[in-house]
Amino acid sequence: MKEETAEQAAARKAADAKRKRDERARKKLEDAAKATETTLAQAETVEDFWAASLTTVNPAKLAEWKARQEEIFDTLHWMREVMDGTYNVSPDDIECYVSLEEGDEDIKRMLREYGETFATAVLLLPLWQEPHTLAQLTKGGENHPTTIFARYGILTALPDWTVFKWEQFMQTHRRKSQSQLFTSNGYVQMQCECYTPITSRESVPSSMAEAYARTGIKFLCGPCRSRENNSRQAAKSLTAEFRQPQSNLRDDWGRLKDQ
Ligand SMILES: [Zn+2]
Repeated sequence: MKEETAEQAAARKAADAKRKRDERARKKLEDAAKATETTLAQAETVEDFWAASLTTVNPAKLAEWKARQEEIFDTLHWMREVMDGTYNVSPDDIECYVSLEEGDEDIKRMLREYGETFATAVLLLPLWQEPHTLAQLTKGGENHPTTIFARYGILTALPDWTVFKWEQFMQTHRRKSQSQLFTSNGYVQMQCECYTPITSRESVPSSMAEAYARTGIKFLCGPCRSRENNSRQAAKSLTAEFRQPQSNLRDDWGRLKDQ
């Protein structure tokens, strides 16, 4: 083996020292990363995560978000009561009463102005443990309601799940009210979809109207009913014709005969 020169020895020592320094630095970084992971993992719930990130928000912005959240909470409260049938403010209470149509209009305005929070994804995914999930949920930008909810747990727009349930509720309601115009003396005015003036409306006992609503059977006015009966009759006689033994095309079971 060739003897190394003093310069070579010095260079080797320097390289060695550098390798050791690098190794220590890498170890240090690794430990720091592990510590961060531990801290994050210790945020066992999304609430812990929100509490920690709330400390970093500008107070003026936070106040603005919280004011909006109050408005969202009021509307959510009204929606829930209406949907589960516990809304019991009298229509005579002009100051407090919110009719279904008024409330629905207000919900539409909020969706137009504030957008929608994709809260379902935020609540289902472990975003505080997965940086890529958090990145995905906040890609709408820092002012998107989903970003604000994911990062801080504050609702600045109606949540998607409640909006979905509300739309279903309103659809059912509209289907019902389309056929039940008003009730008086135990009778309900029903409206046929043909909308023929005068004849398309009929009064039926409210028990019958309820049966229509419950079963989802479409209400038909007299003329439409007889048209329906006629076509049913026509279909019946056509079937009967096919099954007649004297029909030389088909047998009793409607099967084509060998010719
Ligand atoms: Zn009709």
